[in-house]
Amino acid sequence: MKLRKINKCPICRSDKIRKIGKIKNHLKEIDNKFDLMKCESCLHRFISKFPSQAVLINLYKTDSPLVFGGTNHEVDQKKKFINNGFKNVPVQNDHWIFKYVNINNGRFFEIGPGLCRLYKTFLSKGWSCQGLEPRSFVKIKGIKKTFNEIKNDNDIVAAFDVLEHVENPIEILKKINKKMKKNGQIFLTFPHSESFKSKILKERWQMVVPLAHLHFFSGKSTDIMLKKAGFRTVVIKDFSFVEVRRLFRNLIKLPFLILKDIFKFKFKNITNRLFEFYLNFLDLIKGDQLKVVAIKI
Ligand SMILES: [Zn+2]
Repeated sequence: MKLRKINKCPICRSDKIRKIGKIKNHLKEIDNKFDLMKCESCLHRFISKFPSQAVLINLYKTDSPLVFGGTNHEVDQKKKFINNGFKNVPVQNDHWIFKYVNINNGRFFEIGPGLCRLYKTFLSKGWSCQGLEPRSFVKIKGIKKTFNEIKNDNDIVAAFDVLEHVENPIEILKKINKKMKKNGQIFLTFPHSESFKSKILKERWQMVVPLAHLHFFSGKSTDIMLKKAGFRTVVIKDFSFVEVRRLFRNLIKLPFLILKDIFKFKFKNITNRLFEFYLNFLDLIKGDQLKVVAIKI
């Protein structure tokens, strides 16, 4: 596979970039092949070499393990989705974006609708909906495989967990921008390079999975990228996948588990457990994901 070495920050173009560490992977083909890099100027993180977007699209189309950063849970969800069909997808009226969506009805466009919960929610609210999903398992009305098939004048665009997967997020945002109405809102999520998990775990952070994830965004790199693509940032907030209730339950169990480890002389387990708890606790303070709202200017 042809890879391009990245010599400048892909977002702010600064050449003040520095290597953080070599990325290990269970796939031999990409083990130790990439470095995690950091831009000293905008704090963006990225992997040291990128394939072209055409190569990436092909890897996704063929469900290649090289772009499969997904967990077993995701595989199960996908199987369920295929078996149960679209009519059994639950709607998500409490999705965070409805706190910000400023019109009642219009055109909605989602890139990478995945299991289609949000997509179905907009459909059920009577919006005219379009989706872009190059993977073949989604066959639903309005969902297209290529960008050219998407109609213009969208009011709301959502791209959740998309931009970390692409070669050039600014180019993608520019393309999206052209498909939007003026003052239309765009909603994004992606991994947060300035989170505690990213800073403490560095290249061992679970978000660092080449070639699935190429980019890890800071507040600053997000803002620069949006400006370059013709948007004004309205909200940038970190959030965490860690559930408070679950973490609390783990805290209650922790002393018992540690006692068990002591009896079994598994002392390494104890440090691992305490470290994991500490990381998850920190993630609630500065989460390893960002949610973003911006407006087309
Ligand atoms: Zn930069």
